[in-house]
This record gives sequence, C-alpha cells and structure tokens, in this order.
Amino acid sequence: MTNLPLELRDALAAEVPFSSLESTAEALAADGTEKVLFHTADARPVEAVLMRYRDGRRSLCLSSQSGCPLTCSFCATGRMKFGRNLTESEILDQALHFRRKEAVNHAVFMGMGEPLMNLDNVLAACERLPGIGIASSNTAISTVGWLPGIVRLAHEGPPVRLALSLHAADEALRSELMPVNERYPLSDVLRACLEWHERRRRQVFVEYLMLAGVNDRYEQAVALAELLEPRPAFKVNLIPYNPTDARFQGSGRDAIAAFRNALEERGVRTTVRLTRGRDIDAACGQLAARG
Ligand code: SAH
Repeated sequence: MTNLPLELRDALAAEVPFSSLESTAEALAADGTEKVLFHTADARPVEAVLMRYRDGRRSLCLSSQSGCPLTCSFCATGRMKFGRNLTESEILDQALHFRRKEAVNHAVFMGMGEPLMNLDNVLAACERLPGIGIASSNTAISTVGWLPGIVRLAHEGPPVRLALSLHAADEALRSELMPVNERYPLSDVLRACLEWHERRRRQVFVEYLMLAGVNDRYEQAVALAELLEPRPAFKVNLIPYNPTDARFQGSGRDAIAAFRNALEERGVRTTVRLTRGRDIDAACGQLAARG
C-alpha cells in the first residue's frame, strides 16, 4: 500500500476496521474511562484505556508490551507473565480501536510494559499518531528509567514528551521498590534525563507514586526536591496509589497535600494526578489482563 499517500493510508487505517488485535473484553467505568482487553494473533493479552475528561481531552493509555519483564513491587503488570514486545501495528491498533469510535487527542505509554525496551516499535507508532489526531507534543513515553532508551530519545524520534517513574529519591529504597534501579541507578538516569531536556527543550515529567509510610515523609520530599535541579527541567506528578495485590497502602489525601507543599515551597512545580477508572481496574498499575 505504499503507493498511496501517507495521509490516505492513515485515513484508511482509521476508518477501515482491520486490526492486528482482537478486542475480547470491554469495561466502562463510572467516570467514563473505558478499558479494552485485546488479544494478539498469537493470543497474547494487551490492555489499553481511554480516559475522557470534562475539558474535552481524550487521552489514550497505550501498552508497549504484553506483560512486563520488570518487577516493580507496586505494579500489577509486573506480576503477570511477560509475553513479548508488541509490533508497531499492535501498538497503533490500540489507538485506532478508540479512534474509530471518537476523536482522540492525547496518548501516554503508561499501559503494560516498558516502552523503552521496545523503542523501535514505539517510535514507529509515535510517528503515525499525528495522522490520527494525536500531536507528538501530546504524546508521552513513560519509563522506569531504562537508560539506553532515554539516551536514544534525546537524539532520535519525533518530539514526544518524556516521563520518568521516579518513586523514591533514595537509591536503596528505589532499588527495593524497582529492581531495575540496580541496573540503572537513579543518579545516572537523572543525568540522562537532563541531557534529554537540554536537547529537546521540554520539561521532564517526574512520576512519584505515594505509598503510605514508605516514600511519603517530609524528609523524602526534601530529598526529592534536592535531586530535581535545575528546577525548570522537571515537573512532578504525584500519583495516588491504586490498589493491586501488593502489600502497600496508598498515602492519604493529607499526606499527599503535605508532600506537595514541601515540594512547592522549594520551587518544584507539582500536580496531583486525577485517578481514573479505578472501579474497573483500569488505573495506573492495575493492568494485568484479568479479563
Ligand atoms: N513501564 C513504564 C510505563 C508503565 S507504568 C513506567 O513504569 O513508567 C505507568 C505508571 O503507572 C508508572 O509511573 C508506574 O510506576 C505507575 N504505577 C504502577 N503501579 C501503580 C499503582 N499500583 N498505582 C498507581 N500507579 C502505578
């Protein structure tokens, strides 16, 4: 089909229901969030989520792998069996599934998997997203801190956003929560993020999951603020913990507000993430293809 112009190919792909994925279950949350479980042709499960916001934002949460080889202690995806990297079509077909029903305008690689372990296919899919209405500046790739991928992103691919799942400023605690930190320590990862920032001229989104009694103390906010220099390079997004089978308790509203204050007093821009789709296990960290 490469004899057809790219725009026509994208338009056809968006309108014609041919897909590398089969939708096998759908769930709609009270807040309008929709989760779809797909299966690939070789029967690998893949989940994707559409979040609908009042301001008209339609944000897709896309998966880059079936399952995930990393074993972050708080994440449900890490507990299921790792399948394989998804192809470019399998990534794009998640977006097209929703795009056939309604216009979409944002995408985040925060579904199953570690996108930077499948960077060729993720970038190939990112190149195509503008063709279905999602600008590169409205696309974000979220990573555990897979160092070689961050270095590549600084130099190649469309101008998508970068989000780092940081979760603990202290190396030892971070290694406990996210074993990948043993391989790529936070200090090296932050250096790579700064290099990305300098080349791309965009702020790095820092994701910080709020776990009661684990990483939500005042001193831990102070330590986080110390790491995030220079200030304009980073923006923190505090994430309320969504229940999984793991042993953690999420921080309460007051603890999250206090943590945010401690960061903001130090000049760190901070927001608290709205939790979406929790009642259908569609929220961050809950994707485990249980059906
Ligand atoms: N592997 C990538 C992308 C997938 S996870 C990454 O880790 O960034 C997307 C986000 O959800 C990450 O910030 C992850 O740490 C977070 N997350 C994982 N488990 C969670 C949970 N139980 N509650 C809330 N957020 C969670």
